[in-house]
Amino acid sequence: MSGFDLLIRGGLLVDGTGRPGRPADVGVAAGRLTVLTPGEAPRTGAAEVIDARGRVVAPGFVDVHTHSDGVTLLGPSGGRSALVRASVLQGVTTEICGNCGSSLFPAAPERLAAMRAETRITFGGDVGAYADFAGFAAAQAEVPRANHLASLVGHGTLRAGVLGPVDRPARPDELHTMCALLDASLAQGAAGLSTGLIYTPGSYAGTDEVVALAAVAARHGKPYVTHLRDEMSRVEEALEEAIEISRRSGAALHVSHHKTAGRYAWGRTEQTLPRIAALRAEGMDVTCDVYPYTAGSTALAAMLPPWANDGGVGALTGRLGDPSQRDRMRRAIAEGVPGWENTVGNGGWDRISVACAPRHPQAEGRTIADLAASAGADPLDTVAELLLAEAGEVTIISHSMVEEDVRRVLAAPYAMIGSDGVPKPGGRPHPRWAGTFPRVLGRYVRELGLLRLEEAVHKMTGMAAARFGLTGRGVVRDGAHADLVVFDYATVADRATFTEPLLPPDGIDAVVAAGEVVVRDGEETGARPGRVLAL
Ligand SMILES: [Zn+2]
Repeated sequence: MSGFDLLIRGGLLVDGTGRPGRPADVGVAAGRLTVLTPGEAPRTGAAEVIDARGRVVAPGFVDVHTHSDGVTLLGPSGGRSALVRASVLQGVTTEICGNCGSSLFPAAPERLAAMRAETRITFGGDVGAYADFAGFAAAQAEVPRANHLASLVGHGTLRAGVLGPVDRPARPDELHTMCALLDASLAQGAAGLSTGLIYTPGSYAGTDEVVALAAVAARHGKPYVTHLRDEMSRVEEALEEAIEISRRSGAALHVSHHKTAGRYAWGRTEQTLPRIAALRAEGMDVTCDVYPYTAGSTALAAMLPPWANDGGVGALTGRLGDPSQRDRMRRAIAEGVPGWENTVGNGGWDRISVACAPRHPQAEGRTIADLAASAGADPLDTVAELLLAEAGEVTIISHSMVEEDVRRVLAAPYAMIGSDGVPKPGGRPHPRWAGTFPRVLGRYVRELGLLRLEEAVHKMTGMAAARFGLTGRGVVRDGAHADLVVFDYATVADRATFTEPLLPPDGIDAVVAAGEVVVRDGEETGARPGRVLAL
């Protein structure tokens, strides 16, 4: 019974299965767990002991939805360490990136150089693009990290990596190449296929193209993970498309950051959630994730009609410089374009605030409507000038949801937790990257009683690990990987806000990854045992 590297003693074990918590000690040896009845372990049998009396001991959280693909690759300077740290400080031991159709791989050899140029613009630094998952994993392995990282294969990246950023259907030979690249990366250990069907170039694909690719994921037993083609007025149609893709391809369906946003869709979770529940009752494998905020975050360029982004960033900035093209964009937003989500038409420029514009820090935190009014300009001209001055890269916060919808999705028994965090240097990112998990536990479990503690932990751990094939993780049991979080249920709370988005939470005391303590007393220890997980 002696010889543990680490012993966590005296806590309430909430094991990730959803079962009621129970007093238990947890021993760690060689990166694996042993569950002990209280008092079973000797007092002096471990190299390190964490006193967890009055605390909850749970599996490390799995953040099923991140955009953290490139953040460690940028290196630690320029405030980036605070960005990298935010995830593990909220108890996350595995991040799943490559969401919304965007990953750092794969690409056909002849497209790799162009892909690298695009990622340098997107990430504001020297982040690579890789031929396949193995190349991505090798690059990540060069940079020590505290927690683990898994990645989906992004369909938008796959499409750009074969066709380039063009608005046309894939030819049969191109689709064949996309399927082969996807197949290779999934065989190497990528977690599944993701789409972002509101974003160019993914939005240029029709349903059949996605079915063909999802069928490749199905052959690997991996899920089809989708940012629906519309999360606003046409959200139900978009959900039906995803269901069709899942049925025709045979891939399990996972709906990313499920929401019904914009004034025309508020309350529609009363239709979408019963639809998903009915499908599950019929035996269909469909799940979703959600973040606990009524605001979203995305690229300012995604507020423009799809044709505006056709051809990539260079073509976009060319159009933004042309007054007649600006007029076309203004009309498209006012009148809508069939098949396009049109966030601003569904909400208004007063609901869109600037999160990150590195050359215009004075604009950060202000709404587009406010910036335009101050300048005595039309909002679209304000947007165009800002995008031109920032070479197309501006991140926004969109205050587009209502609390009732967020609560309904959080309470759905098949909804897991994903931050949708976008850790990019500079500006004020959405606070979800630093606050999501403590916010669910503090606000929605302890304060509002929307979920039981065990249910919430299950959504953050066991449910997520089962969906994404994280074998031996997400549940505390004998022989499982030693990824753990120790938190104070009485005080756990998010502190990150829209003005101070990276403030670490309260109540997350200790985090263990791969058997090493990476957070102690709420501070990073400097240990870097995290790995890229090949699934
Ligand atoms: Zn998304």
